[in-house]
Amino acid sequence: MGWSNWSGLEHATPSRVVTPTSVDEVVAEVVAARTGGTTLKAAGTGHSFTAIASPGHGVHLLPGGMTGILAVDREALTVTARAGMQLKAFNAALEHLGLSLHNMGDIAEQTLSGAVSTGTHGTGGVASGLAAQLAGFTLVTGTGEVLPCSATENPEVFELGRVGLGALGVLVDVTFRVEPLFALEATEQPMSWTEFHGSFDAMAQQANHVDAYWFPHTDRLLTKQNSRLASLDEIEPLPRARAWFDDDFLQNTAFGALTAAANLAPGVIPRMNRMNASLLSARTYSDISHRVFTTERRVVFREMEYAVPRADGLEVLRECRRVIDASDLRISFPVELRVAPADDVPLSTASERDSFYLAFHTHKAAEHRAYFGLVEPILKAADGRPHWGKVHTRSAADLAPAYPRFGEFVALRDRLDPDRVFANDYLRRVLGA
Ligand SMILES: Cc1cc2nc3c(=O)[nH]c(=O)nc-3n(C[C@H](O)[C@H](O)[C@H](O)COP(=O)(O)OP(=O)(O)OC[C@H]3O[C@@H](n4cnc5c(N)ncnc54)[C@H](O)[C@@H]3O)c2cc1C
Repeated sequence: MGWSNWSGLEHATPSRVVTPTSVDEVVAEVVAARTGGTTLKAAGTGHSFTAIASPGHGVHLLPGGMTGILAVDREALTVTARAGMQLKAFNAALEHLGLSLHNMGDIAEQTLSGAVSTGTHGTGGVASGLAAQLAGFTLVTGTGEVLPCSATENPEVFELGRVGLGALGVLVDVTFRVEPLFALEATEQPMSWTEFHGSFDAMAQQANHVDAYWFPHTDRLLTKQNSRLASLDEIEPLPRARAWFDDDFLQNTAFGALTAAANLAPGVIPRMNRMNASLLSARTYSDISHRVFTTERRVVFREMEYAVPRADGLEVLRECRRVIDASDLRISFPVELRVAPADDVPLSTASERDSFYLAFHTHKAAEHRAYFGLVEPILKAADGRPHWGKVHTRSAADLAPAYPRFGEFVALRDRLDPDRVFANDYLRRVLGA
């Protein structure tokens, strides 16, 4: 019965747990919750670090009965799936169909509904996050109404509800715009702090997707540039043994053991980070896009991520480094840096502005509050927007000015969920009561 999220930070004991298998069952649950004066929360896989998905003491709808592909439109290049499908199953089904999402984040465990609802994004100068790739969805509102939404049907709900925070209703299906299956070549390269600052803008322009990891207390970064290959025939994946050693052993098994041990002796962390940074050597490989975008993450951590205006990103990073260096904190996890183009999704962290993302992590057994509390004021002062699914301390009053259409979203919530069937403590904090 009990619920906790992936990172183990949030827990709840719902009054009832249901796994609906049809839209009618979802409607019946929503209507019953509303009539009974209780709350209802549709769950994803719990990969949000915040309590956004917490069912509190209300009814908990699990996603496992609403999975699978519903429709493929090869002319319009759209694919509709039931909303509880996991991204990894969706990726596999798309590959089978010779199709692909345009871009995605770095894991594929999430549900489609959970990923779009919090504004899950990847990196790249031209390809936006998952919500901006939506062509439509069907929503069961807080009054039990079933609303098909797209640019032509209920367009205002479609526009505002693509990053809906689970506050507007239960998504029962989602339609993504897709493209023919493509391959990416990944070039990973260690860099010095100075070299990175001199070349980041050029890298971000040249590669389709650029990602970087700075190892705190060192001058070292690992950069990853993913560029599209002209043909699937050019694919050259890593040899199986090298892939296992780098991605499984070094990045999960060894990294997990080292960072766990470092919690007991934080003094060793700067030396450990230098060693970790030097172990990651340059490499190039290529594969079907989703296998390059995503990796397996077995080391459990906590994360805070902010989007700041793209042009200010490197200066904000330098400021964060200044305060980390001046503190007595010892941080064992790298800071991840990504970019995204402006999109038109009102509550997307990249809404209407090109964005630079900075993500801060700690091991699950390390105290994260002091670290996140140290850098969050810098991110906030830079007009930063926190990822809805990652730790932050912002609330409705100071989030409203960060999003030009925040008021419209709140008004839509009043209309679609007047009795707050979908409320929880997190939504009360970030949207108001
Ligand atoms: C290891 C790891 C790596 C990550 N990598 C990235 C990354 O690269 N980029 C990035 O942006 N984020 C990343 N995240 C964050 C993650 O993508 C988001 O937090 C995402 O929302 C998690 O999806 P989920 O299925 O676990 O949803 P949950 O966390 O379970 O739920 C998230 C929200 O979606 C709502 N929801 C779920 N299903 C429905 C539904 N059917 N109808 C309406 N609302 C629904 C929930 O109520 C809740 O509000 C990562 C997280 C982890 C733990």
